[in-house]
Amino acid sequence: MPHSQLRIVIVGHVDHGKSTLIGRLLNDTGSLPDGKVEQVREMSRKRGMPFEWAFVMDALQAERDQGITIDTTQIHFKTRQRPYVIIDAPGHTEFLKNMVTGASQADAALLVIDADEGALEQSRRHAFLLHLLGVRQVAVVVNKMDKVEFSSRRYEAVAQEIKDYLAELGLQPRAVIPVSARNGDNIVTRSELSDWYLGPTVIEQLDAFRPQQTSPDQPLRLPLQDVYKPDDRRILAGRIESGRLRVGDTLHFSPTGASAKVVSIEAWNHPETVLSAQAGQSIGITLDKRIFAERGHIAHHQADAPTLAHRLSVRLFWLVSDPLVVGKTYTLKIATAEHRVTVEQVTAVIDVEDLSSTPGKAVRRNEVAEVVLRSRSPIALDLASDLPRTGRGALIDGNDVVGGCLVVEIEDAAAANI
Ligand code: GDP
Repeated sequence: MPHSQLRIVIVGHVDHGKSTLIGRLLNDTGSLPDGKVEQVREMSRKRGMPFEWAFVMDALQAERDQGITIDTTQIHFKTRQRPYVIIDAPGHTEFLKNMVTGASQADAALLVIDADEGALEQSRRHAFLLHLLGVRQVAVVVNKMDKVEFSSRRYEAVAQEIKDYLAELGLQPRAVIPVSARNGDNIVTRSELSDWYLGPTVIEQLDAFRPQQTSPDQPLRLPLQDVYKPDDRRILAGRIESGRLRVGDTLHFSPTGASAKVVSIEAWNHPETVLSAQAGQSIGITLDKRIFAERGHIAHHQADAPTLAHRLSVRLFWLVSDPLVVGKTYTLKIATAEHRVTVEQVTAVIDVEDLSSTPGKAVRRNEVAEVVLRSRSPIALDLASDLPRTGRGALIDGNDVVGGCLVVEIEDAAAANI
């Protein structure tokens, strides 16, 4: 059976070598259009500039802008194991927004760190974002090892520092790989220059990652996207974010408390109706009776209901130049629901360098904070640590995504489905 595609992101401080690594991965797996590298080499030579893998990426981008070939915001390559998609080009302005809103869901991440410079503020901020976004499979790529003569001591120092930082976020890297992206060491082929390193190459580590699976044994969460009435039927449609459901199950809906039995399930990728469906599938269901249900409501089983909350503590990442301020009202989008929320308190602004925190009144661009939000209407949600897909949200101001957040605590939980 062919392995399904793995979605990865490549993050790290500017100039630490992300584009170079991507160029290498594409080249060394034979995924670039024929002649592209030679063409860019020749162009660089004519202009008297050293060849850069980033130019290859730029050339592909230019072709895309002319509508010709490759979409570099979705870069594809293949190993013998499986196809990959790099879901956003580094430096792309929409990158953080897409990740924060869940528009791009990564299965795994590579965090690139310059061996000479070590982890800088942006490296830590990106590591923090991976934690915030729930990307659990992370490998660190210690790049530019050629600049430090493949010194194992330098590698150890950089590796230890970033491992300590990640450990504080509850993240354990699957591997810390010493590479030279420019020269191709330990990307696809093992380098003779690092005989002291026994771990995987970048490609071996990528192939060892698993598609992020939400276990069907988790509580069922089916946030409704739409309700359709194609004929005399009424179909409730949505994507199962966790758990599974079967024909005959009694479903409960939050926040309304309505309930009904599942009569049929249609999976969009399946020609006939099915008897059960699970996390990751987009489905439509019909029910045995007519209940009030609309976009934003979450279907679940009675035993494992989401919490209904009016006050919640979130860990927040702020994206825009207008700061978040206490007393202001935003729209919180969580799964398919939207609620008006007011910022009640900024409990702590977190310093991403050392993860220390201080109380504050505002949160500025690129800052991380713990914030208490209050909503008049009850919000059906989960703690991000329990169920990330229904425990993560985006804050919206007008039409702009201004922040991303994880639900870390429910401050005032009304009992579910009273
Ligand atoms: P990005 O901003 O993270 O995408 O970084 P780039 O890939 O554009 O690389 C920034 C600079 O570092 C470029 O001049 C690259 O040639 C250089 N660079 C990248 N990888 C290596 C490497 O393995 N060794 C050395 N010596 N330089 C590298």
